[in-house]
Amino acid sequence: MRLSKYFLPILKENPKDAEIVSHRLMARAGMIKQQSAGIYSWLPLGKRVLDKVCTIVREEQDRAGAIEILMPTVQPADLWKESGRYNDYGQEMLRINDRNEREMLYGPTNEEMVTDIFRSYVKSYKNLPLNLYHIQWKFRDERRPRFGVMRGREFLMKDAYSFDLDYEASQAAYNRMFVSYLRTFERCGLKSIPMRADTGPIGGALSHEFIVLAETGESQVFCHRDFDGFAVPSADTDYADDAAIAAIVNKWTTPFAATDEIMEKEDWARQAWDGLAEDSRVSARGIEVGHIFHFGTKYSEPMKASVQGPDGKQHFVSMGSYGIGPSRLLGAIIEASHDDAGIIWPEGVAPFDVGLINMKPGDAGCDAACERLETVLGNAGLDVLYDDTDERAGAKFATADLIGLPIQIIAGPRSVAEGNVEIKIRATGARETLSIDEAINRLT
Ligand code: ATP
Ligand code: MG
Ligand code: MG
Ligand code: MG
Repeated sequence: MRLSKYFLPILKENPKDAEIVSHRLMARAGMIKQQSAGIYSWLPLGKRVLDKVCTIVREEQDRAGAIEILMPTVQPADLWKESGRYNDYGQEMLRINDRNEREMLYGPTNEEMVTDIFRSYVKSYKNLPLNLYHIQWKFRDERRPRFGVMRGREFLMKDAYSFDLDYEASQAAYNRMFVSYLRTFERCGLKSIPMRADTGPIGGALSHEFIVLAETGESQVFCHRDFDGFAVPSADTDYADDAAIAAIVNKWTTPFAATDEIMEKEDWARQAWDGLAEDSRVSARGIEVGHIFHFGTKYSEPMKASVQGPDGKQHFVSMGSYGIGPSRLLGAIIEASHDDAGIIWPEGVAPFDVGLINMKPGDAGCDAACERLETVLGNAGLDVLYDDTDERAGAKFATADLIGLPIQIIAGPRSVAEGNVEIKIRATGARETLSIDEAINRLT
């Protein structure tokens, strides 16, 4: 991609309402534009990163055995009346009437709709376990939308829903999602800690929030220092091995970890915390990036989603739901990885792999070197953003650092005349002069 032909509206000033660094940087890097409180357009750079995050989420869901579908954003209120949640959900739900005065709503979550899909087709335990997910926009009329995409009103959510014959099987489904979440956040460059959580309006008994520690997080959290040393399960983790998956969950749920909601409500949590040695305690702010729930038959019973079991009888299916906010994740990633100059994208989520900076467009040597690098690196499968604009060099460096491209190649007339370019690593600031061939070898 050539910057001269791209749409990258960099801002010089911080937006006035941007209270936290991720919001400031996303706006300044031309990733998002606010259209109304908590409602954003995704500009090309933001869209690229959002897609990268969704790819990671999708790959890890698929790996854990979940199957992708796509449900609509607008839902009929009738389904929510069946579950009894239509009245309970309150002011966060955006309610809409269509031209025939039918009550509709913009989905804040999809338990009801997916249960309706399930009951329409699945009649036998032989078709279980089943886990269906989608990545779709949600709307919640948040009381206080803020922090950019971190607490939007319209936001992207990956929500998965598991269906099983009985409690034991649904516990295994819960465990698979638990492990898949550890991997997902790790691949986004984040350290997440699963914490015992309140179930809120989703309901149910067992629940974990996945929290990324950050000063600007909206939750107060309490956990054991041991999490620091825990290694995330590898890509070859066998999701078919229930016992192995349960062992991973057991390891990650043994040290104490809970959010303030649980600390306030549950005596055991307060006591467990009080019982911890001072130097094992981490009390910090955190961002909720994911949340998993096991709620058994809370929806399958009122909505009559049952299957025939091996005993010939009808059983209400045991369910769980599993949410990740990819749009919020972008904010969390930037909170965790930035410096004074801008964003430092972890590998795997960067909008482009390489920034190629031509310091003197029009100079025959610089142009030829850049065009060769652009072609060769592109053919090797790297995404290259080629800054071929007439901006001054300082502004080009500032842009490359602001938008956080992991590797920058700098081609200036003097070094190119000697057959060299400079490579800069965004994360460390390390610079090195290499011949063009060495640079190509290094990056491909
Ligand atoms: P919060 O406590 O931050 O309000 P929640 O507990 O209401 O979130 P869930 O219903 O658990 O959210 O939704 C699953 C995931 O969706 C969350 O873990 C979060 O990553 C994401 N999410 C929820 N609300 C928002 C929002 N307003 N903006 C962006 N992402 C959100
Ligand atoms: Mg909420
Ligand atoms: Mg929450
Ligand atoms: Mg939650």
